[in-house]
Amino acid sequence: MTSPDPLPRLLRPFARHPERSALLLDFDGALAPIVADPDAARALPEGLAALERLLGRIGLVAVVSGRPVAFLQSVLPEALLAARAGDPATSPLVLVGQHGLERVVIGRREVDPRVAPWRGAVAAAAGEAEAIRPEFVVERKGDIAVNLHWRRTPERAAEGEALGRRLAATHGLSAVPMRMGVELRPPVPVDKGTVVAELAAGRHAALFAGDDHGDLAGFTALDELVAAGRLDHALRVGVRSGEAPPALLEAADYQVDGPPGLAALLVGIADTVGGFSGLSPPGRSDPEP
Ligand SMILES: [Mg+2]
Repeated sequence: MTSPDPLPRLLRPFARHPERSALLLDFDGALAPIVADPDAARALPEGLAALERLLGRIGLVAVVSGRPVAFLQSVLPEALLAARAGDPATSPLVLVGQHGLERVVIGRREVDPRVAPWRGAVAAAAGEAEAIRPEFVVERKGDIAVNLHWRRTPERAAEGEALGRRLAATHGLSAVPMRMGVELRPPVPVDKGTVVAELAAGRHAALFAGDDHGDLAGFTALDELVAAGRLDHALRVGVRSGEAPPALLEAADYQVDGPPGLAALLVGIADTVGGFSGLSPPGRSDPEP
């Protein structure tokens, strides 16, 4: 006997109180398929269309990414980004970038104030990397972090790692390893866990979907909120891929098959909460079972 699909049960809290629910979504590998050129990554249109339907019907929709918010703004459609301030029936799409160091809310960029003392150090590290190793790609991330890539010169990975460590030590920055590179950023203690904890606290239901190691912190944050009585229902969605860490999938309440699977889930959520608006009483057309 096959077990029943758990999805209707998992989505019920979102349908019951959409106005007190949050959808928190990773970008790369979740909303957008992984592609060889990171600049070419784009979210799947089906998922974006579902998010557009959900804005204003659900308390919060946020993209939580390691990317700079400027990148997210450049690739997400205007219909999603448009400021809707002053309209109580809609909610803006919140973009959280650089693992929480910056965000855009209703078109306005906010940077974690703890970053400010480190801007000079980040610029100095970036300049030094360019001067010492012009064969590496030095990518400034919205003037608050810098990535050092060796995708074009993979045989120099050891040198790149050593340079990253040295620059981090010299300038007091954190060195975060990434695929074929290292990110140097201010030593501000943010990650997807701190972001998810902040955005999901006090809500009835919160979903976080991700595909990679860094997303486990988001799952853990949801667990901790529920344990602390600060969130009623958590839904941890693991986005499967050939490279998805087994620990992430094991920790997930529900798995989807790649970005197409997440897009289909978002369509399902939009259909589930479709009978509500932010203004109508949620219980009226959603009788308790
Ligand atoms: Mg990802």
